[in-house]
Amino acid sequence: MEVIMKDKTMVMKIAVCLLVAGLGFAISSQAGRRPPYETVHDMDPSLLPPVITPEDDPAKPPSDAIILFDGKDTSQWESDKGGPMKWKVENGDMEVNKTGGIHTKKSFGNCQLHIEWASPTPPKGSSQSRGNSGVYFMGRYEVQVLDSYTADNYKDNRTYADGQAASLYGQYRPIVNACRKPGEWQTYDISFLAPQFDKDGNVTRRARVTVLHNGIVVQNNVEYWGSSGHKVKNPQYHRHKDKEPLSLQDHGSPVRFRNIWIRELPEQ
Ligand code: MG
Repeated sequence: MEVIMKDKTMVMKIAVCLLVAGLGFAISSQAGRRPPYETVHDMDPSLLPPVITPEDDPAKPPSDAIILFDGKDTSQWESDKGGPMKWKVENGDMEVNKTGGIHTKKSFGNCQLHIEWASPTPPKGSSQSRGNSGVYFMGRYEVQVLDSYTADNYKDNRTYADGQAASLYGQYRPIVNACRKPGEWQTYDISFLAPQFDKDGNVTRRARVTVLHNGIVVQNNVEYWGSSGHKVKNPQYHRHKDKEPLSLQDHGSPVRFRNIWIRELPEQ
């Protein structure tokens, strides 16, 4: 009888503990569910999102986009070597020409980027020498640009998976290879979440991206392990500003770019 009573007391204690823990979890998960300034169904007009005008063609910039390259004007860019960018601008596109990488004059944190690119035709070189360039968020976090088109399931054109087009170079291969033929225009639509650091420079939130290649999701909310680099086994974060320029790589291949626009995104 005493044993049963002890058991009952124990069961009650466990039940109370579970209830308290559950309540705590419910409160904490509730607290994490929405920003603290909002209550459910808040009618405060200051919370209403800005109204923008989308285009019929999603490749065209919506009304709140910053145009980085419209086919002619390169004033948003400068050379990584200093001074104006020197890439060849012709026929509505700009072409990498071994004058060095370029970056935007303006800096960006969280953003949505639309960029179109075309691999050189006829193709030249193999593996990482075949139409290599790259989109670097904050000058550090690369989405690879490469001619990864294959008509023969990689027998005709192959590199390492974490270095092909739309890979996060050296970190994540794309989910699928959605490459078009050399010379054909391709799109990247990318949402990027900037990393955050504490006052000591430790990363408290890693950078994240979702990448659509020619309309196909190829990176789905993936975290960068750190800055991109060649043969970096253990990528690291190094504290930088909240906003940094967007860069395009000159890897020696005459890759062309056009129709580049960006939207700055708030913290949510
Ligand atoms: Mg590259």
